[in-house]
Amino acid sequence: MIACAATGAEVADRAAMVRRRIEAAGGDPGAVTLVAVTKGFDRSAVVAATAAGLGDLGENYAQELVAKDDGDAEVRWHFLGRLQRNKVRLLAGRVALWQSVDRPELGAEIARRAPGAAVLVQVNVSGEAAKGGCRPVDAAGLVEGLRGEGLDVRGLMAVGAAGGSEVARPGFRTLRGLADRLGLDVRSMGMSGDVEAAVAEGTTMVRVGTALFGPRADPPPRGDQRAEPKAGDL
Ligand SMILES: *Cc1c(COP(=O)(O)O)cnc(C)c1O
Repeated sequence: MIACAATGAEVADRAAMVRRRIEAAGGDPGAVTLVAVTKGFDRSAVVAATAAGLGDLGENYAQELVAKDDGDAEVRWHFLGRLQRNKVRLLAGRVALWQSVDRPELGAEIARRAPGAAVLVQVNVSGEAAKGGCRPVDAAGLVEGLRGEGLDVRGLMAVGAAGGSEVARPGFRTLRGLADRLGLDVRSMGMSGDVEAAVAEGTTMVRVGTALFGPRADPPPRGDQRAEPKAGDL
């Protein structure tokens, strides 16, 4: 993790820029939740984000979230990354919205450690093997199963295909269609590079890191949630 060079005032300016991008793409900035993704930065990014008035913060790695969470009640943590079941215990009680639930076993563990928790089902809309998420055809069954565990399923989440806004757009349309069919309100899609496509396809929540905090350090070397969950880990 590296320090974030941006001050609170700079992050506030950049957040205003992101909101202008949302508006320019035809969206209502007041209706799109901005999740500030602090991954790769140390606590300085949390300090800058909260000084900028941003209360929804996102993290991809369990240990990073734990390291940055000082119990500030103003912060709503969103967990966004690949998650192994054995990391759920670390995060329970800290995470306000689990955005990357993509299999029943993970949902069962979240329900056990954080009963009734708010979750999104992550859907792999690009078909890229490196991305997390359930297959679109499995989303309905997963939503039903998670509700059966007592979880509060608020919506769907997707990471756009790499390559920019226009490349990501068909996947976002898939997510939108799925959410509509399932009657789910939250559509978490769009990152720094593809906010416009996400807005055009009806995002309600964008997750933005680079556009607020600048370029990140390299991801953690190995292990952690980046690894594929192993069969024995399910
Ligand atoms: C890193 C990450 C983001 C933010 O990406 P930027 O390109 O820095 O805006 C959003 N969502 C997920 C799931 C991520 O892993």
